[in-house]
Amino acid sequence: MDDILITLDVDWAPDFMIRDVAALLRSSNVRSTWFATHESEAMRDLESDSLFEVGIHPASFTTDGMRESIKEMKRLYPNAISLRTHGLFHSSILKKAERVDYDIEIDSSIYLREMPNISPFYTYYESKSLLNLPFFWTEDGEMYSPRSTFNAEDKISCPGLKIFTYHPVHIWLNSATMDRYTKLKQELGPPLGWKKEDVVRIAGDGGGVRGAGDHFKEMLQICAKRGTMTLKDMAERMREA
Ligand SMILES: [Zn+2]
Repeated sequence: MDDILITLDVDWAPDFMIRDVAALLRSSNVRSTWFATHESEAMRDLESDSLFEVGIHPASFTTDGMRESIKEMKRLYPNAISLRTHGLFHSSILKKAERVDYDIEIDSSIYLREMPNISPFYTYYESKSLLNLPFFWTEDGEMYSPRSTFNAEDKISCPGLKIFTYHPVHIWLNSATMDRYTKLKQELGPPLGWKKEDVVRIAGDGGGVRGAGDHFKEMLQICAKRGTMTLKDMAERMREA
């Protein structure tokens, strides 16, 4: 199992960023799973395009708060079967609730940074199975790494399942650190309300430093060659095996 999968945590990105990132995926014909955080026209477009899977990205730092958030996200995206918690919040009670109360079938909330031989596994709750797909890489992990390169090629020879996790805002900004993102939040408030011209004016272009956007574009080339799938596709493949 050496599959490479692309996932995106939306994290309240404004629609223009979601659309630009989706356009890159469409032009390379690369499949991906998006974890939605809010109601959005751009996310509705993805929902109606079979190239994309839309899962949910509930946010809270308590189990009860998470349950409420999942309920709300499932109201917005009733067909979602994949979930990643924002902030990677975990609890065994929550895992059971995901599967039993909210019909989630796939959880990708475990981060195993660049660990070789990651493989999918099931956990069971009241005789229902939840497929756990831990992720291998994320751009904020790369930012904080002492050996950050944002070079996609040097990670892909690692054996095992490799799920790459991006955030549309960091692809769009081509972030190499959190600095420009933090500045934008300070000056413009929460990302959902950002306007493109303000983002360009305040954040600039990053000065040609390699970042998440470069990594993503490189990964698209790799995936276009190797083929890729959504988390849901992987669950189906495992069911058939
Ligand atoms: Zn998040």
